[in-house]
Amino acid sequence: MNDAATPTATTDPQQGPQTYQLLIEVSAPVSVCIGRFGTFDFPAGRYCYTGSAKRNFEARVRRHQSTTKTLRWHIDYLLAAPGVQIVEVLRHPLPECQVNQATAGEVLVNGFGASDCRAGCGSHLKKVM
Ligand SMILES: [Zn+2]
Repeated sequence: MNDAATPTATTDPQQGPQTYQLLIEVSAPVSVCIGRFGTFDFPAGRYCYTGSAKRNFEARVRRHQSTTKTLRWHIDYLLAAPGVQIVEVLRHPLPECQVNQATAGEVLVNGFGASDCRAGCGSHLKKVM
């Protein structure tokens, strides 16, 4: 491989956070249509969603916190539902699947946020309490 042919990386993924966790409060049971993925019931409680962004990390976090965005990812649909809000954002330097698998919780919707997951997490959304 010729390094000169490779675009110069502007961000070293080893520096700073690459994985974020959104702690989400569902204040009352809610049924959410997640696009073509289906409609799912989410009991009230605290959830943890684990995602990553190797570039534009803080912009990604701000996007999740925005209430005026085009619904694209599974998590966008949940966050747009009534009574659902982010209560805390955690940042980690480790890969998202490693962080997700180290998070104790219950998978309610298999495959949620895990379309790109190659580590067998089952879901990147867990109910944590
Ligand atoms: Zn994963």
